[in-house]
Amino acid sequence: MMRIVLLGPPGAGKGTQAKALAEKLGIAHISTGDILRQNVKDATLLGKEAKGFMDRGLLVPDELLSKMLQDRFTQGDVKKGFILDGYPRTLAQAKTLEEVVKLKGMEIDLVVYLDSSDSVIIQRLSGRLVCSKCGAIFHIKNMPPQKEGLCDKCGGSLYQRTDDKVDTIKKRLEVYKKEAAVLIKYYERQNKLYRVAADGKASDVLAKIAALAK
Ligand code: AMP
Repeated sequence: MMRIVLLGPPGAGKGTQAKALAEKLGIAHISTGDILRQNVKDATLLGKEAKGFMDRGLLVPDELLSKMLQDRFTQGDVKKGFILDGYPRTLAQAKTLEEVVKLKGMEIDLVVYLDSSDSVIIQRLSGRLVCSKCGAIFHIKNMPPQKEGLCDKCGGSLYQRTDDKVDTIKKRLEVYKKEAAVLIKYYERQNKLYRVAADGKASDVLAKIAALAK
């Protein structure tokens, strides 16, 4: 059983890889971005509080995320193992995660850092399409759906995230870089961090991560 954390800038392919790996290994996929977007869509209190931050490319406050993470860990599927995508993003979050995981009698086994260049990130995010039903990820050029605007997997309609605009992408990258070095060091010290070059094809990147997750 594996408990994995995926780190990397927005657009490094965390969502795509986490989905594929969760399926391959039969473990839970936990995307804090997906959970937040669902809350925004459902207009929950959390969604209303988070939306302004998300639209500006800023981090949602740690307290809101902690509560969300704790709730998610009450679901039984995490017992099979999990892959976290988009959490932690700050050192405080990494410490919260450690506590939450410890309370369940678990430990993080592996942290993978997806290393991508800014130009690839901007190109990927500005063409990203997401399924409104199942969350599958496509790209206008790199990974076009078979039928325009429709998901290959479930037929749901595809949309562009409101934060995938060039200005917001740049802001998200800036926010990411501020916190990333500290997080990387934190997991390096625990001897859990592995770097994977992530500018290439999704299937090649997946093979590299899968080899680490054995
Ligand atoms: P993502 O789908 O991972 O790109 O996340 C989209 C947005 O959700 C981010 O730009 C943040 O505003 C918010 N978000 C997701 N995960 C976190 C987190 N761990 N901490 C703070 N904000 C987050």
